[in-house]
Amino acid sequence: MPPERWLFWHRRDLRLADNLGLAAAAAATPAVTGLFVLDPAILADPAMAPARIWFLCESLRELAERWRQAGSRLLLLRGEPAALVPQAARAVGAAVVAWNRDVEPYGRARDRQVAAALRAQGIRVQVDWDQLLVAPEAIRTGGGEPYRVYGPFLRNWRAQLQARSAVGCAAAGGLEPVAAPSALLDLDPTGLPAEPAGLWARLPRLETLPAAEDLGFAFAGADLCPCRPGEAAAMGQLAAFADGGVNGGALAAYEPGRNFPGDAGTSGLSAALKFGTLSPRQAWAAARAARERARSEESLVSIGVWEQELAWREFYQQALFHFPELADGPYRPQWRHFPWENDPVRLAAWEQGFTGVPIIDAAMRQLDTSGWMHNRCRMIVASYLVKDLIIDWRHGERAFMARLVDGDLAANNGGWQWSASSGMDPKPLRIFNPAAQAARFDPEATYIRRWLPELAHVATADLIGGEITPLERRGYPEPIVSHRQQQARFKALHASLPRG
Ligand SMILES: Cc1cc2nc3c(=O)[nH]c(=O)nc-3n(C[C@H](O)[C@H](O)[C@H](O)COP(=O)(O)OP(=O)(O)OC[C@H]3O[C@@H](n4cnc5c(N)ncnc54)[C@H](O)[C@@H]3O)c2cc1C
Repeated sequence: MPPERWLFWHRRDLRLADNLGLAAAAAATPAVTGLFVLDPAILADPAMAPARIWFLCESLRELAERWRQAGSRLLLLRGEPAALVPQAARAVGAAVVAWNRDVEPYGRARDRQVAAALRAQGIRVQVDWDQLLVAPEAIRTGGGEPYRVYGPFLRNWRAQLQARSAVGCAAAGGLEPVAAPSALLDLDPTGLPAEPAGLWARLPRLETLPAAEDLGFAFAGADLCPCRPGEAAAMGQLAAFADGGVNGGALAAYEPGRNFPGDAGTSGLSAALKFGTLSPRQAWAAARAARERARSEESLVSIGVWEQELAWREFYQQALFHFPELADGPYRPQWRHFPWENDPVRLAAWEQGFTGVPIIDAAMRQLDTSGWMHNRCRMIVASYLVKDLIIDWRHGERAFMARLVDGDLAANNGGWQWSASSGMDPKPLRIFNPAAQAARFDPEATYIRRWLPELAHVATADLIGGEITPLERRGYPEPIVSHRQQQARFKALHASLPRG
């Protein structure tokens, strides 16, 4: 009797190592075939960023190779998952289809449809969590509610991880990454019986892996983007960040290094975590190993702060899972009535990096050119759009999604709602002064000069304060609004909102 065949459906877990769904499949049978479906609904999303398609295509290229090295293959199909996953399962004679769960409303609805179609055909479905250290259902307040506030979420999250660290292997509920499967058994399409062979022949297979351009997405910023596609590159980046030589990598100085956009003080792993070329357990294990090696209190603090960033990622994902309405607009009801001005000329100036405020324009040019933006700058430009230009944050959310290599519904929505003060965060109105932020976090204007080379000749103090003489502007615009006036205006509008 040949072993039972399983199909493993990759979505945002483009790796073989420490992939919990795949590990479970490989533990059940060596006959596992990989599947990825290029979904036209996702490709046609107007907010799809060329940078994300680039990252996806390059990561798939490596993934297909890794499946071959492991002894099997990755099937790459283009079409609707609800129709194609069951068709592929029947074509390969799969008894079971396995995948890792998602938190996004679109993915969850799609998965329900696929699971129902499979079960209707007598094919078993196996699903579990992989993309989070703590599953959304496993983390609740004392009253059994999902968390709305980050602080208590973090305490519970840490306690759970602490308790699980003694368990060992992730496959048994612990945190130690699981090895990639090897010695898998490929299927032989020439040996398929008649009915599956017909289905196999009709599968819309992509025999050669497309590049982003083949799918209609041109991304010119690959060399400038700090996020590198593929599982091997993600592990390399993680090692360089967490263990880069005698003094440790940037992780050892993450606090305060993470705040300076002119330095490479953060991991650049956001796209790897979004697409799952890296697992959160691999990131966590690297942080734990760095703790063991740490020789100073400063390094330990830094590692703790980085772990808290991983917790923010999980906080926003569990929030979207439990409150899918977050994706539709402001969490706080009074913000639904905010009288946004939504001036299209100002919005375009912000998007294109021509507001006349150097730190804002440098950041928006970094995003446009490289597909990525430093976290400090994401907060500064978001505050500026909402509180200086008085534009609905959802325009910013969309503009980010249309450009970010790591664009992720939960993190992006969470970041924008945090910046707009419309989210779950209980903090009062938060308004960033762009000049003060630049003075503090880009004191030599290194970052501003890198992304606004046309202003490289301007004195540092003028770049930071945004007060550039007409003679030195050379075509660079004057500030489109005054921060002082707009701040007062925004506060007045905010004060007129109903309380609650
Ligand atoms: C307005 C706004 C929009 C954002 N949009 C996204 C987005 O679409 N996708 C995205 O991954 N992050 C988003 N972030 C969070 C953060 O800016 C990025 O995760 C971070 O800049 C990525 O760089 P890094 O990988 O070097 O991060 P590091 O500093 O090395 O952090 C490690 C990892 O922790 C996670 N992380 C860090 N900070 C946050 C945070 N505040 N919220 C959630 N996760 C976090 C990321 O997965 C990141 O890779 C947004 C933040 C703001 C303020």
